[in-house]
Parts: sequence; structure tokens; C-alpha cells
Amino acid sequence: MTELAYLPDLPSAYVRTFRARITALPPGAVVLDRTYFYPTGGGQPADRGTLQSEDGRRLEVVDVTKSGPAVLHRVRADPATLRGLAVGAMLDGEIDWERRHLHMRLHTAQHLVSARLFARAGLRTRRAQLSGAGATVDLESALPSGSVETVAEDLREVVASPRPVKIRLVPRAEWDAHPASARSGLVPLPAQVDPVRVVEIEASDVCPCGGTHVRSTGEIGPARWLPPVPLPDGATRVAFTLERVAPPTPTE
Ligand SMILES: [Zn+2]
Repeated sequence: MTELAYLPDLPSAYVRTFRARITALPPGAVVLDRTYFYPTGGGQPADRGTLQSEDGRRLEVVDVTKSGPAVLHRVRADPATLRGLAVGAMLDGEIDWERRHLHMRLHTAQHLVSARLFARAGLRTRRAQLSGAGATVDLESALPSGSVETVAEDLREVVASPRPVKIRLVPRAEWDAHPASARSGLVPLPAQVDPVRVVEIEASDVCPCGGTHVRSTGEIGPARWLPPVPLPDGATRVAFTLERVAPPTPTE
């Protein structure tokens, strides 16, 4: 089992370097007792970065996935380095911070966009996907005209007047009765999820999520919008990209 160290609170998403112990070595991969690497899930891509052995050998982390309770860090390294790994040894991890921080910005912006489209047009988000190129948000039906412009203005406002972002653990019964659960109702939470990890953007949104997010909406920065695209089944895709900004100093 791998402890998801980025998960318990918002500041944990700002940790870039950490030490952890090898617990298993499946072919081409390393399992650690804990990790700050985000594994692919919930529309957010996996982190990249490096793992380094105590004798200074470097492994490139090329993908990170969940396998039951374990996190697999798929690695690339010379064969001698791979052969030198042993269960029980310690590794130093370092996350590609620029890539991760972009995902945190996109993810937080996506929450705001989904929340505003629900508040303004009653449209729920069916699926959201982030990548280095930007975010896509698939809505359950067609968009009233002008919605993207209005939501783009809403996003600009919360970036210009930053609001804090927090993680809270909410008992399942309390969450099911929460008025905010309506906006995320299209993606049913598995019955066993209790408590629910909710991401709260002050005065803007409350949503269950296991991803990584920025601590303040000011960190999202300027967005560029693409025209909405109708999808074959009556749904609509809206998409945006974020301008490149220098990421803040991570927690070491
Ligand atoms: Zn999220």
C-alpha cells in the first residue's frame, strides 16, 4: 500500500521533494511506502520527475498509475541502476514542478468553470480532462449563447481578486445533504467513500475531488478560451488554456 502524501491538505500539494522506502519492484516500476507523485486519475495526468538512490543513481519517472492500494512509478534508467534497486532501500523523489503546478492551476480553474456554468446555466459537468495543452470540460447539454464569455469574465474576476482554496473532509451523510452536491451529481461517488474529500474555493465552489489544486485562485493566472464545440450526443465541450507563468517556490 502506498500512502498518498499529497492528499491530506492543500499545502501537501506544494511538496516537490521527499524520501520514501521501496516496498515492491514490479517489472519497470517502483512502489514506495508513500509518494507525492500524483497518479493519473480524475482527469488529471500523472506527474513526471525523478527518483534517486542513496548512491546517486537516477531513475526517470515516466508515468505514475494506481494499482489497487499501490502507486506504480514507471521508471526509465540504465539496466545496472534498475538491478541495483532493492526492497527496503530509500529513494529521493523530485516532482517536475512546472508540469505539476500547471495541472494544479488548470484543475482549480476547471472547478470554477464547472461551478459557474452550473450556477448560471444549470449545466452539470459530465467529464473534465486536463493536459499540458489545457482543459476541456464536457457539459451535459447545449450552452446558452454568451455563456463562455460570461464564465470567462467570472474566472478573470476570481483571479484578479484571489480567493483561498481549502481541503476539508466531510462525513458522507453531511455531503449527500449539502446543496453543493447537486453540481457534481453527474459523477456519482462510490458508496464506500466516507468521509468525502471536498475542495472548497471560498464563496465560489465546493466539490469532491482527489486531485491537486492551487492554494489561491490568484495563482491560476490568465486564461485563453476556445470556441465551444457541440459533441455528437447533444453535449457541449468548452476548452481553455492557461498562459505560462513562473510557478511559486514549492515546499521542500
Ligand atoms: Zn479537483
